[in-house]
Amino acid sequence: MTDAELANTGKEICIKNMDMLSGRILASNPDIVGFSVWNSNHKASLETAAAIKKTKPGTVVVFGGQECFPMIKGDDFAMAEGVDVVVYGEGELPFLSVVRAVANRLPFTGCPGVILKKGDHGIIINKNECVKNIEELPIPDFRKFDLPLYTDTDGKSLFILSNRGCPNSCVYCNVSANTRYRWRSGEAIFNEMKTQMQRHPEVETFQFASTALNSNVKELTVLCDLLIRADIGIKWNGNALLTSTMDDALIEKMSLAGCNGLVFGLESASQRIVDLMGKSFDIKDCSRILKACHANKINIVLNFIIGFPGETDTDFAQTCEFLKENAAYIKSVGSRSVCYVTPYSQLFDEPGKYGIDISPYKKFAELPENYYGVIEEYMTKSACIRDWRDLGTPENSYDKRNKKQKAFEELVKSLRFGIIIP
Ligand code: SF4
Repeated sequence: MTDAELANTGKEICIKNMDMLSGRILASNPDIVGFSVWNSNHKASLETAAAIKKTKPGTVVVFGGQECFPMIKGDDFAMAEGVDVVVYGEGELPFLSVVRAVANRLPFTGCPGVILKKGDHGIIINKNECVKNIEELPIPDFRKFDLPLYTDTDGKSLFILSNRGCPNSCVYCNVSANTRYRWRSGEAIFNEMKTQMQRHPEVETFQFASTALNSNVKELTVLCDLLIRADIGIKWNGNALLTSTMDDALIEKMSLAGCNGLVFGLESASQRIVDLMGKSFDIKDCSRILKACHANKINIVLNFIIGFPGETDTDFAQTCEFLKENAAYIKSVGSRSVCYVTPYSQLFDEPGKYGIDISPYKKFAELPENYYGVIEEYMTKSACIRDWRDLGTPENSYDKRNKKQKAFEELVKSLRFGIIIP
């Protein structure tokens, strides 16, 4: 079979799968079908949405999720065949508003946090609305879900929220630009864990689906104390900040309370680069935290960014050295991509300040500050900019960044780390 025949066969199989999937979705005769869209599933989501609309045009198709921000892929999705409305950012209030609009046969133009088609070449972006007090969110009810289908732990884990947004504002990240930092009390998290464990006795682990489960040390301490006192034997893990507040006593307490894994965004082991990133930790503290976690049986996953603006070969060598020296305390290396310039990040908004050139994409960097409203000219764009130029450190070229990433990958392999999930 030639490559072209193979590609055609693959495409046919894919289309058949999407038709089958859309058939299964439509079998329950839904008024609204919502897709949680990630980079990895966005093509399949688009195909399935188109198949749904072809079979039953009256079904309202809603896209939401990580990739749905304007200037990332949200506006492309809004223009796609088969998608009626895109919800971006935090979805609770916008999606509720979409459901009410469908129920009352109203247009979506009045819904907050949505992106809509406007004719053939325009889109409408409505400003988002976030839940102000996340303590008011009800405990998620998963009882009608077949949990093994939704988890990679055969239904033995559930997601839980500790905070929304982030207290930090790393210059490559867009979390703080897109949402306000809010946290939940330790007591509320504890009560949710207890409720979910009563509903799902098979659950053994909670995975915090938040940027930083230790962003509020006071509330984290309350949670740990409650868990230790209740002795309910639950395990939990998630993303955490590298910060000096992670002292040995807190790490020991977290372990006693059931913490069995933390993911840290170390990104670089060069203090100079960490400072340029706008992170506020001391590299010397990191080794201490890794050792204390290891001693307390908390598995550690570290994330890295290769080739941040200004990164020299010496900085990169320091990162590699750190990884080798601390390999015994690390369970795995998670993300280790080259540095992307992401819309809404400070790198994207002020490239000159960080000594980089993103001029092929300037059109988007120059959108008016408050661009909510109608963008008449529909623009196709790359979500994240990979091939930016480092003006201040020319040795950190696009090719060099890719080579460093490959070298890092080899190092990770040679150190034989385990799988990514802690
Ligand atoms: S990279 Fe992580 S710590 Fe930094 S601002 Fe984003 S979410 Fe917060």
